[in-house]
Amino acid sequence: MLEQLELLLELQEIDADLADLSRQGELLPVRIDELESERARVRAVQQEKEHALEEAKKERQHREHELEDATVRINELKAKQIVIRTNEEYAALTHEIGFAKQDVSDLEDSVLKLLEETEELSDDAERAGAEVVEAERTIDGNVSELRARLDELNDALAVRKDERLRIAMRVDESLLRWYEGILRSKGDCALAQVVDGACSGCYKSLPPQTVIEVKRGTRFTECDGCGRLLYWRKERDVG
Ligand SMILES: [Zn+2]
Repeated sequence: MLEQLELLLELQEIDADLADLSRQGELLPVRIDELESERARVRAVQQEKEHALEEAKKERQHREHELEDATVRINELKAKQIVIRTNEEYAALTHEIGFAKQDVSDLEDSVLKLLEETEELSDDAERAGAEVVEAERTIDGNVSELRARLDELNDALAVRKDERLRIAMRVDESLLRWYEGILRSKGDCALAQVVDGACSGCYKSLPPQTVIEVKRGTRFTECDGCGRLLYWRKERDVG
């Protein structure tokens, strides 16, 4: 029984390690996903700024064309005015030219405004681009570090799993099933040490008869409080 107990204690240590490694292994991909989301976010911001800049440029070009057209129109009207014969026609053209000049003035204002706007948007886009470069450098560094850690973790897991397999092979089948059943239901560990006459798993005081049985070590005994398998170590029991 003692040899079996030693094996189970080794198994317990490995299982605790495996649980710990698995937990870390679950956290790392989450962190990597978070970093990738951050990358997508800064990229989206940059694209948004670039898009706004393109739209403003298009709008400016559109207004510039309109301005050219309006200017051409004024010249045409002025040319007509020279060859006009009646005062009424002359007055009507003057009126029309007045409107066209107002158009030109309005268009010049909006082109100027759009010019300022595109400059600001261009600065914005440039800043967003620089932020993307900076963020990607940091994110790339962090992601590759996390991936390397994940690889190490998976290697360690593989080694520990292999060790577990080799030890589990030496444990009696029914005892192993018993141990694993308790481990599953408890979640942390299946073996609990008897310290000062109590179970170290649930801290319940054990009946003296149980303590005697566990100390004798001829068979495995469950704690009637938590159901864990009890064991006793002389050097660690102060009572
Ligand atoms: Zn207990």
